[in-house]
Amino acid sequence: MASPGSVTRWDDEADVVIAGYGIAGAAAAIEAHDADPKADILVLEKMPECYQGGNSRASGQSLLISKDVEALKSYQRAMSESNPIPEDMLSAWAERMCALEPYIQERAREAGAQYIHGAGWSERAAILEFPELGAREAVAHTATILPIPSGVWLTFKACVEKRSRIRREFESPIVDLVQDPDTLEVFGVLVERAGRRLAIRARRGVIMATGGFENNLDMQRNYFGLSNAWPLGTPGNTGDGIRILQKAGADLWHLRNQGQSGGVWPGFRFPDHPTVFLRQLFFQSFSWIDIGGTGARFCDETSEWQLTHYKQKVHGEWIDLPHQRVGRMHMLFDENTRLYNNLVTKVMSWNAVVHQYDWSDDNSAEVAKGWIVKADSIAELARRIDRDPAVIEATVRRYNEACAAGHDAEYGRRAETLQPIAAPPYYAIEVVPAIVCTGGGARRNIESEVLDHQHKPIPRLYEAGELGSMFSNLYQNGSYLTEAMISGRAAGANVVRLAPATG
Ligand SMILES: Cc1cc2nc3c(=O)[nH]c(=O)nc-3n(C[C@H](O)[C@H](O)[C@H](O)COP(=O)(O)OP(=O)(O)OC[C@H]3O[C@@H](n4cnc5c(N)ncnc54)[C@H](O)[C@@H]3O)c2cc1C
Repeated sequence: MASPGSVTRWDDEADVVIAGYGIAGAAAAIEAHDADPKADILVLEKMPECYQGGNSRASGQSLLISKDVEALKSYQRAMSESNPIPEDMLSAWAERMCALEPYIQERAREAGAQYIHGAGWSERAAILEFPELGAREAVAHTATILPIPSGVWLTFKACVEKRSRIRREFESPIVDLVQDPDTLEVFGVLVERAGRRLAIRARRGVIMATGGFENNLDMQRNYFGLSNAWPLGTPGNTGDGIRILQKAGADLWHLRNQGQSGGVWPGFRFPDHPTVFLRQLFFQSFSWIDIGGTGARFCDETSEWQLTHYKQKVHGEWIDLPHQRVGRMHMLFDENTRLYNNLVTKVMSWNAVVHQYDWSDDNSAEVAKGWIVKADSIAELARRIDRDPAVIEATVRRYNEACAAGHDAEYGRRAETLQPIAAPPYYAIEVVPAIVCTGGGARRNIESEVLDHQHKPIPRLYEAGELGSMFSNLYQNGSYLTEAMISGRAAGANVVRLAPATG
């Protein structure tokens, strides 16, 4: 923290300062504005304006809609059993969740956008991740806002832009809080802009909504234990909020959720792209397998793992699939799979949605770039990806024999997906562990107050969204965006209600 005495002058001031402009920051700004339309609200975003929106913009835009408070509570309690969420927080969250749909519909109306049931890009009315824990009772349906992609984010952005007293400044990462070293009361923030360090006073308080640490490999290694993990969302989420809140005296939580909780997905990583491509979720043909460091397969590749955020049930426990602990991975496929499947999804991820990289439908452009390696035989393919030809040939042979038998004794792939890798030429693409989100951050309460090590609120300091998310262990689809709304709204409403600081 920087002490008030170290600030010689304030370069700017606002009633409410919000760090991070994703859904949590936007929801906080809208709520603070509507609670006090005279308040001066300043949103500080690290990324340039063209890259605003954080993971909220790159995400799948699924929203969990629930109508049954008790069922929702019980479901979340079961998902978080190994690291319980405080009961009072769980109850208040479930009540707010069950009252959230009209708020979302109102935002869509205000922005002139269309709210729909379903995810928009999948035929399912609802994704029920863990039915035996109570998903069916808790989840009324999934919802989203058009257009696809990014409709929910675009709606919140439009609602912010309609409120002229919400200022937004880009390329303005906050780097520290200005705090009383004894009481920890927060008076403002330090920002780095165009090579200068500026002090910005927050008369009523500060809301930290800087997202996760997907793009911080060092934190992934030290806080969660992934040795190799790459972001599917914004490159801007480097865990700045965690560092700043640690320094501010906050207690930390939820750094070790399963896959932290969005899971570890198969991604593709290439030079000049700081984030990774998300592999296709819906394949039309299945003449492909994944192999790990030993050259052997390691899971049922074609199961719909996206429906459980890449968690599998082992010994009665839902745990991450092994994608982050099998060494170097490749996807191997034949000409049929190349021709009939675009290898990446276009409805979410930073590269597809924000950079709008137009991956060729038959993958030929990516073969030409050398991103996908091509060869006329499996042995030659193995050599080109620096693998032992005999091992890879044996793996493909075993898989093709399983296809012929209609039974995958190794990993139980469904019979209809057992299509041999038999149509030359053959292809390989390296697969990397890809991170959807990280929920860890400062411990907070349902009013979004940041808590210190005695679990007491740090005065005038709030937190919202994925940074310090309330969810622990497992995660139900559509919960992060809705929690970003709920925690952002609480932070915005509570901070704007405070009398200006006298310090
Ligand atoms: C591919 C993908 C699919 C997903 N699908 C879904 C889904 O369908 N449903 C769902 O509920 N969730 C989904 N999620 C998760 C969800 O998108 C996020 O949890 C949610 O958007 C987090 O919102 P947020 O506002 O907390 O953070 P973000 O939207 O990530 O915003 C954080 C912002 O803070 C900025 N920032 C970082 N550091 C600083 C700093 N020092 N100063 C100022 N600004 C800073 C970042 O640049 C960023 O713009 C998905 C995520 C991904 C990546």
